Amino acid sequence: MATVASAPTIDPKVSAFVARKQKMLINGKWVDAASGKTFATYNPATGEVLAQVAEGDREDINRAVRAARAAFESGPWSKMPPAVRGKLIWKLADLIEKHLEEFAQLESLDNGKPLGIARIADVPLTVEHMRYYAGWATKIEGNTIPLILAPPNKFLAYTVREPVGVVGQIIPWNFPLLMAAWKLGPSLAAGCTSVLKPAEQTPLTALRLGELIQEAGFPDGVVNIVPGFGETAGAALAAHPDVDKVAFTGSTEVGRLIVQAAAGNLKKVSLELGGKSPNVIFADADIESAIPGAASAIFFNHGQCCCAGSRLYVEKPIFDKVVDGVSHSAEQIKVKPGFEPDSDMGPLVSQEQLNRVCGYLESGLKEGAKAVTGGKRHGDKGYFVKPTVLVNTNETMKVVREEIFGPVVTAIPFSDPSEIVGKANDTTYGLAAGVWSRDIKKAHTVAAKLRAGTVWINCYNVFDPAMPFGGYKESGWGREMGHEVLEHYTEVKSICSAL
Ligand code: NAP
Ligand code: MG
Repeated sequence: MATVASAPTIDPKVSAFVARKQKMLINGKWVDAASGKTFATYNPATGEVLAQVAEGDREDINRAVRAARAAFESGPWSKMPPAVRGKLIWKLADLIEKHLEEFAQLESLDNGKPLGIARIADVPLTVEHMRYYAGWATKIEGNTIPLILAPPNKFLAYTVREPVGVVGQIIPWNFPLLMAAWKLGPSLAAGCTSVLKPAEQTPLTALRLGELIQEAGFPDGVVNIVPGFGETAGAALAAHPDVDKVAFTGSTEVGRLIVQAAAGNLKKVSLELGGKSPNVIFADADIESAIPGAASAIFFNHGQCCCAGSRLYVEKPIFDKVVDGVSHSAEQIKVKPGFEPDSDMGPLVSQEQLNRVCGYLESGLKEGAKAVTGGKRHGDKGYFVKPTVLVNTNETMKVVREEIFGPVVTAIPFSDPSEIVGKANDTTYGLAAGVWSRDIKKAHTVAAKLRAGTVWINCYNVFDPAMPFGGYKESGWGREMGHEVLEHYTEVKSICSAL
């Protein structure tokens, strides 16, 4: 097998980018870590070192927060009309689009996902996300408030929405560029400044984005990008006393640490955490669309989606047919390095995730689950796992209760439709759910009872910048996207004037 580095399609700009030691962006300058340290990011298809990146820690976070504070309080950003801010965000979107192929290649190399997926999903979604929030920069408004206890015309009361200030943004590795956009789009629209820490596994597209942020003409210090480890750089950012808000996407476990770290200065916190999302197929569903829908609900992005439909509940009369269909879909998936033109599924992101997912598979099989297909690692090089369908599970098994974050679905039959809501909600998570039925009344009645931030009916994984996304229960605090996210990046000020 050709190594990725010698694959014929690699863009020379991408080769040059990964060959260069990557620095961090602080106050509009590309600088080394204060410690001088670097860390390696790996190509998950081969396990080989892909690039060397400056390793930010507490001291670099301090420098970046100082720059973000200065840009927020006194730099050109603080005086910029919203229309100009909106144009800059739109310009950034145009630049990302112009470099779509470069971003797609970098993402595929760093994360492992198929190049084709990065081209049609990660990068275009990033572009449209930025454009959507470019539009919001000019539409953040307050209200006039008729006071109810005062006589008319004695007071004028109104609210204004102001940017929350300096924001710390900590993101995961599953959609590295898109997660950066989910954080930066609304914070820039609201007029905040930020310090972004990408995941240690996938810092490259965020760093390339930093170059385009400079090219677009954002003032120095508005966006600072500090790659590094969660335990050092991430923890310092979450705890920093001069950060007004922290926005985090990642595991529920680390989400709890973020909340604790934020307690020092009571900074605002928004969290987008894990899930164990139920996907429910009723016997009256259009099975021709439900089967591929259920397969893509779990296998898209190798199951490395916080909203993956990982618990598949199927009404008994169609259980065997659906399990056969989803298993057949799993077997058709070409598991290959992301740079191979016909790759449908690349490797998991890291050795750690490979061990984690294989550990879950072993535990499930040991406890009596049966793999209809898959159930183990794919090949012996890189971090590939076979798309897996597990049956014969029960509600106490770890594979049913815990987030696996890999291409593993547990298929569970149900016979009494009145019990399915209880089963679907029997989880500490509440991020997403799917319902498949031709009976529109039943579908909406079930959707109303599901404790999840997003419910897809007769579809799955439909994302749109205008549609809020986030979790009930231990899946998080607050919402990303839509106008809802802007509430997290603004403070409301009431102004009351005697007339
Ligand atoms: P993670 O540890 O939660 O990492 C997410 C981000 O938080 C990364 O930037 C990470 O930095 C940072 N971080 C880690 N420890 C931190 C700390 N103490 N303080 C502040 N920031 C910290 O997730 P992971 O290790 O990449 O994956 C583990 C599990 O998380 C997955 O198996 C999955 O269950 C879940 N996950 C969920 C999502 C989602 O979209 N909801 C995405 C990815 C993973 P470093 O990467 O540099 O350590
Ligand atoms: Mg980690």
